[in-house]
Amino acid sequence: VAENVAGDPNRGVASGGAGGLWFPYLCESTERTGRWANETRVRYEQLLQDGLGFEDNGVAVKDVWQCYSPGNDLPPWAPDCPTLELLSVAQVEEKYAPGLPQYMIDQDDFLAYQFEAPIVQVDLFLGHLRRLIEGMGGALVERKVAGPIESLEADVLVNCAGIGNAVEVEGLESDARMRPVRGQIVHCENRANITEAVTIGAGAESAYMIPRGDVVVYGGTSDDGQWDLSVNEDTVEDIIRRCKKLLPEEYTQGMEDRIVGHWVGLRPYREEMVSVEAKTLEDGRVVVNNYGHGGSGFTLCWGCADEVVRMAQAPGT
Ligand SMILES: Cc1cc2nc3c(=O)[nH]c(=O)nc-3n(C[C@H](O)[C@H](O)[C@H](O)COP(=O)(O)OP(=O)(O)OC[C@H]3O[C@@H](n4cnc5c(N)ncnc54)[C@H](O)[C@@H]3O)c2cc1C
Repeated sequence: VAENVAGDPNRGVASGGAGGLWFPYLCESTERTGRWANETRVRYEQLLQDGLGFEDNGVAVKDVWQCYSPGNDLPPWAPDCPTLELLSVAQVEEKYAPGLPQYMIDQDDFLAYQFEAPIVQVDLFLGHLRRLIEGMGGALVERKVAGPIESLEADVLVNCAGIGNAVEVEGLESDARMRPVRGQIVHCENRANITEAVTIGAGAESAYMIPRGDVVVYGGTSDDGQWDLSVNEDTVEDIIRRCKKLLPEEYTQGMEDRIVGHWVGLRPYREEMVSVEAKTLEDGRVVVNNYGHGGSGFTLCWGCADEVVRMAQAPGT
């Protein structure tokens, strides 16, 4: 049951327009999110083995490199990511060849690494999930739940309403820890056949690009607490400026002429922790929460879903 079953990104559904890169972002940085992320990565990799092609499920594994200056510790998922390798400043500069980065990398305070990761073309992947559900006899119903989730008739209820949990419905209290972190991105044609994803953080500025399949996604913003779904023109200019300054020149050449669209989405951010937890109602039915994945819905999805199934089968664990 969903208010917007079609996943239309223009109707505030985060999954319909996301970058689709496997990378934990804006979610708790803990052992369990690291585990969910790695389980999800493995599931995507298995999907590639099952005989379906990119056109069927939208999943591809591509090279990713990231450089942060100043840099923090390696993230908790790193030790279990078999392809992850640290990069030296010289190696990062080599990736900018023939030019050097247009910003200063602090030689004493930086973190750079590369790894292989799934990148999902979200419309194809959501179609694949939909067919999986229908193939197992499931049905999707378009309907707003305008009351407590327990008003729905079902033996097991799973709350996957994302940012919907930050909205008061019919006098019901919302989850006070939930809030949107608005993201605006630019979609460009992939004329140069870019195949790697890059994220650069330089002081207070950052930029990223994700070759998603249909387009290259350039970003972005993380506007805490903002609900505005309209495209901000000043932000478009700022994204282009940051991308041109921070990303390798070959990837931003003619960027303005390659723009094919813009998108704004609301990351369903939950303070401190993603909500994956179960409760048993007085009538014995189980409600499992699965929301608040922030900027990591496609990164944590399979790991969280497995946990939800386990909790639904044994709610007390
Ligand atoms: C710019 C941007 C880039 C991103 N890039 C990435 C990325 O590269 N990798 C990544 O892993 N993640 C990324 N994300 C994050 C990712 O999009 C989200 O974490 C994920 O889509 C959240 O999924 P969800 O199913 O919880 O929420 P949604 O996709 O928003 O789905 C919620 C569903 O609940 C329904 N709903 C809500 N309230 C009700 C109600 N009362 N009754 C009935 N139905 C209701 C809605 O209609 C909708 O169908 C990005 C997000 C943004 C904004």
